Amino acid sequence: MDEDRGKATDQLKLWKEDRSAQRPDNLTTGAGHPIGDKLNIITAGPRGPLLVQDTPFIDEMAHFDRERIPERVVHAKGGGAFGYFEVTHDISRYCKAKVFEHVGKTTPIAIRFSTVAGESGSADTVRDPRGFAVKFYTDEGNWDLTGNNTPIFFIRDAMLFPSFVHSQKRNPQTHLKDPDMVWDFWSLRPECMHQVSFLFSDRGLPDGFRHMNGYGSHTFKLVNAERQPVYCKFHYKTNQGIKNLKPEDAERLASTDPDYAIRDLYTSIANGKFPSWSFYIQVMTFDQAEKFQWNPFDLTKVWSHKEYPLIPVGRLVLNRNPANYFAEIEQLAFDPSNMPPGIEPSPDKMLQGRLFSYPDTHRHRLGTNYLQLPVNCPFRTRVANYQRDGPMCMFDNQAGAPNYFPNSFSAPEAQRQHVETRFKVSPDVGRYNSADDDNVTQVRTFFTEVLNEEERQRLCQNMAGALKGAQVFIQKRWVQNLMAVHADYGNGVQTLLKNTEPTKDTVRVYTRGGASTIAASKM
Ligand code: NDP
Repeated sequence: MDEDRGKATDQLKLWKEDRSAQRPDNLTTGAGHPIGDKLNIITAGPRGPLLVQDTPFIDEMAHFDRERIPERVVHAKGGGAFGYFEVTHDISRYCKAKVFEHVGKTTPIAIRFSTVAGESGSADTVRDPRGFAVKFYTDEGNWDLTGNNTPIFFIRDAMLFPSFVHSQKRNPQTHLKDPDMVWDFWSLRPECMHQVSFLFSDRGLPDGFRHMNGYGSHTFKLVNAERQPVYCKFHYKTNQGIKNLKPEDAERLASTDPDYAIRDLYTSIANGKFPSWSFYIQVMTFDQAEKFQWNPFDLTKVWSHKEYPLIPVGRLVLNRNPANYFAEIEQLAFDPSNMPPGIEPSPDKMLQGRLFSYPDTHRHRLGTNYLQLPVNCPFRTRVANYQRDGPMCMFDNQAGAPNYFPNSFSAPEAQRQHVETRFKVSPDVGRYNSADDDNVTQVRTFFTEVLNEEERQRLCQNMAGALKGAQVFIQKRWVQNLMAVHADYGNGVQTLLKNTEPTKDTVRVYTRGGASTIAASKM
């Protein structure tokens, strides 16, 4: 008897045993013509050359040549699954969105988890934030919460995003991950410290995707049936318990099982162990927002749980693996601007930047009509708009319905009024510098009150080991920033930097493709 290799490794065996799986009677070309011989190309004589009239070969090869689509600029490596969201608590006093309509209501969901900076073939176990993106297929169109496994982000101004991402990816000349670039950017922008501190803490190496929390991260607006708005943050807490990898285990897995997290998710669901997360909101009134000690829309900061307690809402459950990875996960496109009535954006500068950037990148990566792909289309509602044509237009292109508005033939006589909340914007238009918007207080709280002594030591150790790869002047600038948070933090990293000697002539650097070594420059 074969050994038990796990359901992910045994996928083909299980597919063969599955009576419902569709097996072909005939092999065909893409156009459906039967193919008699799939093994031998048409040649003039047994030794060739080939004939262009071998259309089954050309059909196959030409498609193969076009198999790859651009990978995501960030979050390229990931896995995902499908399931449902169930309302367990009524929050209709805050939000009229039908997804929260009544206790017991369920809505189909898709979730994609990912690392951020690595390419699509990179290891799952690197120190990196994890993407945690949820698509709710609601009765009023899709709602995407395109968040991470941390409630904050490195930067607060969308203008910095492309440069930030460049600094975390490959050096333009060497095509190598470059610790100078990583730490240069972080140290020049001290607002990164909060997220970088999370990253080098134990939670920077989650044990797969099931054992981590998710967060909508941004501040959003919820609107109730009386059109009263509040600000809100979304949290999803793992019911599997938080579990992290030790750095040495993460490093080992990066070479022995680089797809560790995808395998773990797939196997767990295939075995009927369905991962779930409890879904909460935090709510802040507009009055409270006015008085909040920080900018409530600053993505580098949290809202304290003590002041703004978590309000239970429901649970997310994943119970179905993708039937086909490319169709359902690679083509799955999340967009923070996908919000049904009752959920609206806040002024968060990062969110506002993403409202533009995400659908823009999908139009490039998947094409103009990406919302018609089955996994992206809002299948629980009927799309009625005046967009037509474009490449890969599926279905009937809304057939004979008028393609302009207003028109005298099809438009609803009385428009059902969905009106976004009105709000006043009075300040002067300008480019406002937010670089010094208190980059330390919440990091200090995290360092002194959230972490225990051992966790603090591990944070400093992990950080020093990675920072060591950057040039000394960059190391100094980073340590100086930490000093402003807490002397113990700055000194802790400083001491470890001094005492951590590079191994022989190499130093460990923080790479997004797993820990690795590079030749040391003289420190
Ligand atoms: P709390 O004591 O209520 O919150 C502390 C929270 O920190 C925990 O609830 C947990 O969030 C999170 N946490 C615990 N260990 C770690 C870790 N190793 N890495 C990252 N997060 C961890 O206090 P406050 O709400 O007042 O927040 C205090 C500080 O906690 C903040 O300045 C921030 O640095 C950090 N924090 C706060 C979160 C929030 O939304 N308020 C969320 C995450 C961190 P969770 O329950 O979400 O796992």
